[in-house]
Amino acid sequence: MHNFKKKFGQNFITDTNLLKAIVSDGEINNEDEVLEIGAGAGSLTKQLSEQAKKVVAYEIDKDLQPTLESLELNNVKFIYKDALKEPIKEIEKEFSGTYKIVANLPYYITTPLIFKFLTETNKVTSLTIMVQKEVADRIVAKEGSKDYGVLSVMCQFYSLPKITRIVKRQMFYPIPNVDSAIVTMKKKEMPKDINIYQFEHFVKKCFSMRRKTLLNNLIGYNNMSKEDIVNKLGEEMSNKRAETLSLEDFLKMFKQFKV
Ligand code: SAH
Repeated sequence: MHNFKKKFGQNFITDTNLLKAIVSDGEINNEDEVLEIGAGAGSLTKQLSEQAKKVVAYEIDKDLQPTLESLELNNVKFIYKDALKEPIKEIEKEFSGTYKIVANLPYYITTPLIFKFLTETNKVTSLTIMVQKEVADRIVAKEGSKDYGVLSVMCQFYSLPKITRIVKRQMFYPIPNVDSAIVTMKKKEMPKDINIYQFEHFVKKCFSMRRKTLLNNLIGYNNMSKEDIVNKLGEEMSNKRAETLSLEDFLKMFKQFKV
C-alpha cells in the first residue's frame, strides 16, 4: 500500500468513469501528445495512454516509480522530477510540436503551474485540469464577482476557461477537505502587440489593494504621478476599482499607459 504524502498533494482518483470523463473533456485523440503533471499511481495516465499518441508524465515522488513502471504503458514516458522546477525547454524536448496538458493537479502548486504553462510557452494548445472548486471559480469569474482577480484576468487573457464538471471530494483518496472541479482552458491566439510580462505586472498592480481605486494602486507605475494617471484615464476610470473592470478594459488601459 502506498504511503500517501500530504506534502505532495496526493489525492488519487480510481473511479474509471471520472478518469474517462477527464480525458474526454480534454478532447484527446490519437494524434495528441499529452503532458500529465503528477502521475500518482498512474490511473489517469493509463486512460490517457489509451487515447493519446504519446504521454509524458511527471511525478515528483520516486516511491511511485515501481507502481508506475509495472503498468508497462508503452507510449508513456515517466519522468521523476519536480514539474514546477523543470525548465520548460527540458519538458518540451519530449514533444514533437504542440501538446495538451491533462492533470489532476497537486493542489499546493496549482496557481504557479497554471502560470508556468500559460506564460512560458506557446506550445500548449489546451489545459484540462482538476483543481479545487474555489480555484475553478476564480479562474472563470467575471468582473464584478467576488472571485474575480488576477488569476481570472490572466487565465481569460490566455485562454477560454470553462468549468466542465464539479467533482465531489469523496471521489478522491485520501478524501481532501474541499470539492474540486475540472476546468478546460483552450489557448487563444495571443495579441502580437502586447508584452505579456508587462501586462501581467500591470494587472497585478491594479489589483494590489483590492479595496482601493485604480488611481491609488497605480501611483508610481511607470513613474507616474496622480495627475499623470488622471490625465491618461480620466476622472471616472481612475476612481474605479480593478474588480469592476473587464479583460478588455485592462488591455485598453495597458495600451494607454505604454511609454
Ligand atoms: N494523477 C493521479 C494523482 C494526482 S495527485 C490521480 O489522478 O490519481 C497529484 C500528484 O502530483 C501526486 O502523485 C504528487 O506526488 C504529484 N506531484 C506533487 N507535486 C509535484 C511536482 N512538483 N511535480 C510533479 N508531480 C508532483
